[in-house]
Amino acid sequence: MDILQNFINGVYKDPVNSNYLDNIEPATGLVYGQTPDSGEEDVALAVEAAEKALPQWRIMPLEQRADILYAIAQGIESQLDELALAESIDNGKPVSLAQAVDIPRAASNFKFFAHACSQFASESHSMTNTATNYTLRQAIGIVGCISPWNLPLYLFTWKIAPALAAGNCVIAKPSEVTPKTAALLGKICLDAGLPNGVLNILHGTGSSVGAAICNHKKIKAISFTGGTTTGAAIASQLAPQFKKLSLELGGKNPALVFADCDFDATVEQVFRASFANQGQICLCASRIYIERSVYEKFKQALVDKAHALKPDDPSMASTQMGAIVSQDHLDKVLSYIALAKNEGGNIIAGGEQVQLTGRCENGYFLQPTIIENLDNSAQCNQEEIFGPVITLQPFDTDQEAVALANDSQYGLAATIWTTNLSRAHQLSEQLNTGIVWVNCWLLRDLRTPFGGMNHSGVGREGGFEAMRFFTESKNVCIKY
Ligand code: NAD
Repeated sequence: MDILQNFINGVYKDPVNSNYLDNIEPATGLVYGQTPDSGEEDVALAVEAAEKALPQWRIMPLEQRADILYAIAQGIESQLDELALAESIDNGKPVSLAQAVDIPRAASNFKFFAHACSQFASESHSMTNTATNYTLRQAIGIVGCISPWNLPLYLFTWKIAPALAAGNCVIAKPSEVTPKTAALLGKICLDAGLPNGVLNILHGTGSSVGAAICNHKKIKAISFTGGTTTGAAIASQLAPQFKKLSLELGGKNPALVFADCDFDATVEQVFRASFANQGQICLCASRIYIERSVYEKFKQALVDKAHALKPDDPSMASTQMGAIVSQDHLDKVLSYIALAKNEGGNIIAGGEQVQLTGRCENGYFLQPTIIENLDNSAQCNQEEIFGPVITLQPFDTDQEAVALANDSQYGLAATIWTTNLSRAHQLSEQLNTGIVWVNCWLLRDLRTPFGGMNHSGVGREGGFEAMRFFTESKNVCIKY
């Protein structure tokens, strides 16, 4: 039995209350370990450690801080296979995906911010013949980072790396559903020379340790990625405390496919955007709008690919589609498929749970599912399903496509598939999303602002946006 511990002040520790949660492998449905079910007492210990570490960490010369972050990246890279396997066991994602995407990106996050902290500059504003202003951007102090289960180490480090790079000490909480790689990160940080107390990793549920992190008076900012409902609860909790808050929330991402697209490449990419990681990426396409003249042909190509994609044991190198993260989540996704039928939708591919044999006979597998004939106002087109389920709708004009895409409370990411350059530019301006990809999906430059509009969040991560979030700006005005 794999029993995880919190990582506080550079030491692995049991939770003060000695309570644990079961850790379940989604591919088998079996308990394979336990995770601390931490509480306020553990947050207090972590904050105490962070307070002690902060004075030295925030004044450490940038080159030295950057070297440590770089060494953490190298530590992640040197354990790529072990971390990828851990991620696959914990989350159900294909091990090949964790090897190719999750773990390399976790290393890139640390490398990127190791460089970014030495390039981060602040502004100066001169008042001719009167005064000069310059802006200091100083570490906030102790900050909290809370992340979800879908890209566990990838998103955990996407917050921690800039927070540390900016000179903060961090109390971080991974999802209780996928805690394993976060637990392994503690040792990697120690080996890289990160001083004790600079990063503290606490495990447990959102309602217990997550809420305690958000409520602790000495934790001055919270960077949160997760569901929109959770984000709303945290926002209302933090508003009277006047804490800085960044929210990266859910999505219901439109893909706009035009008749002039590069057909084969678009089928390939839209399919990947729909079903990668079992559709459990906040950026996955879930509403596919197809120009009417190519609707039938495009639909058939997607359906053929869906029939060919078979969920299988994620630990096998050949597997392209793994398990859904938990029984609860599988039930939620299945309930949306049932709802789609009630709403008048036709299930034209998938729709059924998959029963594997052998090791994975009790795992949480679901066929890639394609639904058509649903109105844009249907719940399945308005609510985030966050699984391998997409809907198809035809459109006739550019303006109709934009109107359908924008008819959503969410606004995270959109994709446009066309060879018409001016249409691509025009529509990019008109779409209400924080990210627009044209003829590509999930192509990431870590310098770019990342985040959503409306119910998809508040604030941006990435590049200097993240460095700005994790610092307080202070203007100094010097009169001549
Ligand atoms: P979730 O909101 O249930 O949980 C996210 C994290 O918040 C977990 O660590 C959880 O323990 C914690 N948490 C829950 N309640 C809390 C509370 N009251 N106080 C403090 N912490 C609390 O989300 P999830 O199910 O883990 O993740 C899936 C969601 O995340 C989807 O909606 C998805 O779209 C979203 N997501 C968004 C992005 C993005 O960048 N916009 C990226 C990935 C996932």
